[in-house]
Amino acid sequence: MIGSRGDSIRQLMLAEGVDALVLLGLPNIRYLCGFSGTDGVLIVAADKSLFLTDSRYASQAKNQVCADQIICYKNKFTRLIEELTQNQMKRVGFDADVMSVATFNELQTLASDSIEWYPISEKLRSLRTIKSTEELQLLRQAASLNLDAFAEILPLIKPGVSERQIALELEFALKRRGGEVTAFDFIVASGERGALPHGVASEKLLQKGELVTIDFGTRVAGYHSDETVTLAIGKIDGNLRQIFDIVLKAHDLALEAIQPGMLICELDAVARDYIAGQGYAEYFGHGLGHGVGLEVHEYPAVSAKNLEPLQEGMVVTIEPGVYIPGTGGVRIEDTVVVTADGYAALTAIPKQFKQLAVS
Ligand code: ZN
Ligand code: ZN
Repeated sequence: MIGSRGDSIRQLMLAEGVDALVLLGLPNIRYLCGFSGTDGVLIVAADKSLFLTDSRYASQAKNQVCADQIICYKNKFTRLIEELTQNQMKRVGFDADVMSVATFNELQTLASDSIEWYPISEKLRSLRTIKSTEELQLLRQAASLNLDAFAEILPLIKPGVSERQIALELEFALKRRGGEVTAFDFIVASGERGALPHGVASEKLLQKGELVTIDFGTRVAGYHSDETVTLAIGKIDGNLRQIFDIVLKAHDLALEAIQPGMLICELDAVARDYIAGQGYAEYFGHGLGHGVGLEVHEYPAVSAKNLEPLQEGMVVTIEPGVYIPGTGGVRIEDTVVVTADGYAALTAIPKQFKQLAVS
């Protein structure tokens, strides 16, 4: 398996008291053995690792996968059980966040009583939270594509252009620069639609006097970027400007507060308390952020419910928002890495108030 990642996973197995671990989730599979295809199983035991995939991925796996054995199956689950049985793996852990109940039932039926299954959840969730230098480099690269692509499409953001057109141009600009896929369906929400925190780009045309919120990202070698910008299209109402300033301040305060060792819920509270103090508590309904890595939303959730400490090397987003039905909304998002004494931003588009000139 890749570098020291095999050691981390084996420590986890030891702590859980299992002979083997079966991984079906692609991000963990990629993290541990490098496979970037869309179907496969990784079995990790104390003394070996086996990667199983089908004929479509046989040669890709040979070139890509870091495992002791690569096995091509005709029937995934039958072969998985055969391998576990032949290798005398009896106490088998699995990723409970990923395996469906249907799959679990099928495996249990195939294995009958020869295997005891142990669901593992939290411990596996935190496997990928501390990013290595190489991972940070890829996350930075993905973030820099955001910066360049956004600069390219900025002149297109003007009255009469549809939200969807902006999303499409951004997608092209990111892919032209080497972005692998869009990290998610881009949110381009203007005017009243800005009140939809997940307002996927529509056919609505931008208009003078509106705010537009653009939430987008891409992927480089599996690692994602995630960033949100809110811009004013010409002169906007005083109350929209006030909301913008509140969200920006909440974003800045949260960034300044980042320290390893603080509880994640305390970080969420920095932004939430400020927004509440300004009278907008009920309009900030989501968590402050989330982890970013091989998945665009991954552990840790930066929310009021997360009582874990923030740790150096975690990569999280800081994305407060205020959404007022019938009026509009603002979200401002950066992705940052937690450092020994604070944070370093990965995303780099300036977030201060920007009023686009309109004719
Ligand atoms: Zn986002
Ligand atoms: Zn996000």
